[in-house]
Amino acid sequence: MNYEKSKKLFNEAKKYIPGGVNSPVRAFNSVGGTPLFIKKAKGAYIYDEDDNKYIELYNSWGPMILGHNHPLIAKAVKSSIKDSLSFGAPTRKEIQIAELIVDMVPSIESVRMVNSGTEATMSAIRLARGFTGKDKFIKFEGCYHGHGDSFLIAAGSGAMTLGVPNSPGVTEGTAKDTLLAPYNNFAALQQLVDENKGEIAALIIEPVAGNMGCVLPRLNYLQQIRDLCTKEGIVLIFDEVMTGFRLAKGGAQERFGVIPDMTTLGKIIGAGLPVGAYGGKKEIMNFVSPVGPVYQAGTLSGNPVAMSAGITMLTYLNEHPEVYQYIDNLGIEIVSGIRRVLLKHKLPYTINQIGSMYSLFFTEEEVTDLESAKTADTKMFGLYFHEMLKRGVYLPPAQFESLFLSTAIQEKHVRKIIKAHEESILAIHNL
Ligand SMILES: *Cc1c(COP(=O)(O)O)cnc(C)c1O
Repeated sequence: MNYEKSKKLFNEAKKYIPGGVNSPVRAFNSVGGTPLFIKKAKGAYIYDEDDNKYIELYNSWGPMILGHNHPLIAKAVKSSIKDSLSFGAPTRKEIQIAELIVDMVPSIESVRMVNSGTEATMSAIRLARGFTGKDKFIKFEGCYHGHGDSFLIAAGSGAMTLGVPNSPGVTEGTAKDTLLAPYNNFAALQQLVDENKGEIAALIIEPVAGNMGCVLPRLNYLQQIRDLCTKEGIVLIFDEVMTGFRLAKGGAQERFGVIPDMTTLGKIIGAGLPVGAYGGKKEIMNFVSPVGPVYQAGTLSGNPVAMSAGITMLTYLNEHPEVYQYIDNLGIEIVSGIRRVLLKHKLPYTINQIGSMYSLFFTEEEVTDLESAKTADTKMFGLYFHEMLKRGVYLPPAQFESLFLSTAIQEKHVRKIIKAHEESILAIHNL
């Protein structure tokens, strides 16, 4: 494959944009090589500027659950554009999307739209603090909640891949109110809560972690957390920016049957446009401005074009439960194919999967938290990534990311993915 145009564009981009990219993990720092500059995508395929074609397995980090350029969503956006792009005033569409979200997500009785997942989590924590009158909150090592200051403590995803466990620019004053717990270790969490009794406003968690690679909660772990938060008066926030509308139409909370007090959403909710949301119990949401004292605003929040895309996406998912059956089966099929190949060649690497999310970790250890995720051989992943790319399969360009499947992936793609996997695994082990 020829990457000449991407190389040229990357060099040009670096002149004007820090590192040549507008979000760090796009830079290929952890896998090496030049990031591909993308021209277009359709269904399961993405095309770069050199006209190389790839089966795409991260789907814009999740939003494209129906595949790229889905005709229904494209139509909704086109039709919305002709009525102007923004009003900064209420619209009918905002009621429509709010009704859909309240209908689909079990914990949400009232919801506020924002423009990204980062905004959703920042606002949710502020609200929980305002509601409880307490300052501290708990987050988990390896979970990523966007780039708000108070979350950039042992954050996963790009922050972790680039080895920035605590970002400079985050003040000690801010950091001291973020309490850190290891994922999947209830005893450690209980101890942390005991040590900070009566001082904790909120606990925020990815109910399935996707930002240290895909890591599943242990059996009953989420319910234990739910019970602890209820007992201690801590606002439980599920960050479902990744898992929302993906693991079920009601997200991980529906799938696991554990209902948080608040939920943050992003990614799929905008169908590829910049949208986020936070919502929850009415008694908490009524603390938000203008009914309540906690301030939160947005010039472009509830943008009509973005709402049109989101309404179309959510309506489709709400009316087509077979989507979840389909992508969940895809997940099982691809992962069992990958496993078969690993077994055949006696390479005991770990794969975590739930529904349409999975990660292959280049470690023999079971991966249940940040510490075990870190045993993965990132250099090996980098080699694997490029071998897959050469064979026309585009993975997220870092070990500590989850893959996201879409309904556009068909049987023929699955066969191609497994074949590329086998050849790549053999190539990196010189077999
Ligand atoms: C992507 C992500 C965010 C941040 O969303 P942005 O839209 O990138 O700001 C927050 N939480 C989780 C769990 C995410 O996966």
